[in-house]
Amino acid sequence: MTTISEGTTCTQTESEPTTTELGAAEDTPEYSDFASMGLSEEMLRAITGMGFETPTPIQAAFVPHALTGRDCIGQAQTGTGKTAAFVIPILERIDHSSQDLQAIVLTPTRELSEQVAAETARLAVEHHCDPACLVGGRPLGRQVDHLNRRPAIAVGTPGRVIDLINRRVLDLSKVRVAVLDEADRMLDIGFRPDIERILRHCPQQRQTLLLSATMPGPVERLAHRFMQDPLRIDLSQASVVTDLVQQFYCTVDANRKFGLLVRLLQRERPQQAIVFRRTKRGADKLHHMLSKRLPGTAVIHGDLQQRQRDRVMKDFRAERARLLIATDVVGRGIDVSTISHIINYDVPEYCDDYVHRVGRTGRISSEQRGRAFTFATKEEGKQLTAIEMRINLLLEEYTIDGFEAYRPGPVRQHVDDITRPAAPEFTYS
Ligand code: AMP
Repeated sequence: MTTISEGTTCTQTESEPTTTELGAAEDTPEYSDFASMGLSEEMLRAITGMGFETPTPIQAAFVPHALTGRDCIGQAQTGTGKTAAFVIPILERIDHSSQDLQAIVLTPTRELSEQVAAETARLAVEHHCDPACLVGGRPLGRQVDHLNRRPAIAVGTPGRVIDLINRRVLDLSKVRVAVLDEADRMLDIGFRPDIERILRHCPQQRQTLLLSATMPGPVERLAHRFMQDPLRIDLSQASVVTDLVQQFYCTVDANRKFGLLVRLLQRERPQQAIVFRRTKRGADKLHHMLSKRLPGTAVIHGDLQQRQRDRVMKDFRAERARLLIATDVVGRGIDVSTISHIINYDVPEYCDDYVHRVGRTGRISSEQRGRAFTFATKEEGKQLTAIEMRINLLLEEYTIDGFEAYRPGPVRQHVDDITRPAAPEFTYS
C-alpha cells in the first residue's frame, strides 16, 4: 500500500510536523513503465542498459514527484530500488552543461556510498557524468583531484564531506538536490550534527530528498527542520520486509548457538550467507571458530582497515567467500544478489536493524527467495516479539533436533555436534 501525505511547510523550529492523509489513487498515477514518466531519451536508454524493465513500487511512486522539484520523503523497505528512485530525478533535474557540483548524496557507510556512486555512474552513462565518491579510509588526494575535475554529483559519508568542506575543496553553494539516504541509520550512528552542517552549506532554495526504511522521531525532526513542505511517500505499510524472504526463528541456549549454526549451514546449504553478530569481538570470535571448519568464511566490521574491508567485499561479491560474518553498521547496505541466507546469530539490538539485516537477501536483483533465521535464547522472547510487531508478521519456528532451547519438562537428549569430529562432513555445495 502506498500512502502519500502532505507535510506542512518546514521552519527552523523543532515542533512536530502535521500531516494530512491524501488518497493514494488520486496522487499516485500508476506508472507501469519508465517511458510514461516523461524521462529524457538519455535516461531511458541508461535505464534499459541497466536491464530495468519496469519501475519498482518506490520508483513508480517517488520519481514523478521528485521530478517536479518538490522535497520528498521516501519510506520503503530495503532492496526495493531506492537508489535509482533518487538518482533518476537528480540526473533529470541538474544542468549537465554546468561545471558546478549540483547534487550531494549522504549515506551512513563507505560501502553504501561506493555502491550508490557506482549505481549513479551506471545510470549516468549517457550523460557522461562521473560522480565523486567522498568517503573516509580512502586517499584524500584522489578525492580532491576528482573534485577539481568538477563533477556534477558527489556521494559520500558525512565525516569526509565535512572534512572536504573545511579544506575548502568542496563547494556546496550551487547544490540543487541534497539526498539523505538511509537517514535513520545516519542518525543512529551520530551523524546528526554533520548532516546539519552540510545542509547549512547548501543553498536554502534546493530540493531535499530523504530516504529511510523507518521513520523514528529523530528522522521526522530532521525532515521537519531541513525540508520544505515535504511529500511523504510511504511504501512501508504492506510488509516491512520483502515477501521474497521467508523468515524463521530458532530457540537455542546461548552456549549451543555455534552447534546450531553448523547444523543449519549443513541443512540449508546457502549459496551465500551473512551471519550477523552484535559486536565486533563476537564477529571475530565466530570467524575464528568457523573459518577453521569452513573454508570461504570471511569477517567484516568497522575495526578493519578500509583495505581489508574492500578485499573482503571483493571476495564476497566474486563468491570466493561464501559466508560473511558481519556487524550491523557494515553489513547494512550490502547488495549482493547471490545472498540466499541471513542468519542472525544474535538477536539484533534494535528492531530496525532486523529489517536492514534481513533486507540483505531477497533483493530484487536476485531470482530466488531468501531465507532468514534468527537465533533467540529463551530470555530473548520479548525482543523477538518486538521484532514481530515491527514487521507485522509472526516468524515461523524452525527446529533442528537437539538444538532447541531447554524448556522445563521431559529431559531432552542433546547431541552436541561440536564435540564430534565434524570437520570432514562440514562441507556443502
Ligand atoms: P537498491 O534498493 O537501490 O539497493 O536496489 C537493489 C537492487 O535492485 C540493485 O541491484 C538495483 O540495481 C536493482 N534495481 C533497481 N531498480 C530496479 C528495477 N526497476 N528493476 C530491476 N532491478 C532494479
